[in-house]
Amino acid sequence: MSSEDLFRENAQLRECLARLVRVDEQGLLLDRTVFYPQGGGQAGDAGEFLLPDGAVLKIADTRKGAQAGEILHLPAAGQEALLALLSPGQALTARIDWARRHAHMRFHTATHLLCALVPHPVDGCSITAQYARLDFHMSEPLDKELLTAGLACLIAEAHPVRHRWISDAELDANPGLVRSMSVQPPRGTGQVRLLEIEGVDLQPCGGTHVANTAEIGALIVTKIEKKSAKTRRVVLGFAEPSEA
Ligand SMILES: [Zn+2]
Repeated sequence: MSSEDLFRENAQLRECLARLVRVDEQGLLLDRTVFYPQGGGQAGDAGEFLLPDGAVLKIADTRKGAQAGEILHLPAAGQEALLALLSPGQALTARIDWARRHAHMRFHTATHLLCALVPHPVDGCSITAQYARLDFHMSEPLDKELLTAGLACLIAEAHPVRHRWISDAELDANPGLVRSMSVQPPRGTGQVRLLEIEGVDLQPCGGTHVANTAEIGALIVTKIEKKSAKTRRVVLGFAEPSEA
């Protein structure tokens, strides 16, 4: 059974009521969740499940399950006694570690800004609560200070960030849309989730983002590495330590 993924429509949700569907060694499956499963370079959410009797189950990470649409919550170690008391059908409140998630959202949205500043294909991406890194397929050098200044500018300009779903048919009917995208959309699943940073970037993306670039706050390019003759890695960090 797939879980209703509430974070895709509203990334600002911090908690939700849900029912436990299954609990086994793979993890905990809920009927609906605000926990983002690791994917698209973005780390999974951590947090806690609040049980009706007041008990708190710590969740260390979130992954996609083997079945399409399954979201598995991985309990932190050492909670066997509490896990043994759980039973399918019971209600709970699922609450994410917001400081960690918001850091993911800020960094993730910033990687879209980087895509706009560095118009080269992306080879790899990793987004955590401490840093984000993006690998560009390019051989030209990049300037750390220039990129930091470019990001600061796009963040200060407070561009709205929004998503919409588009069908393959709509995509085919609007070739200009595909041309304006920094990443080619995947085909064949019927629906593509487009993430638009107004006036800056448009690309297919299933991750979680802030609602406005101003929400990203102060970031710096901490490192630029030449990973290979054809790869430049850009690493982002918070200008001030986050509360995470
Ligand atoms: Zn994204």
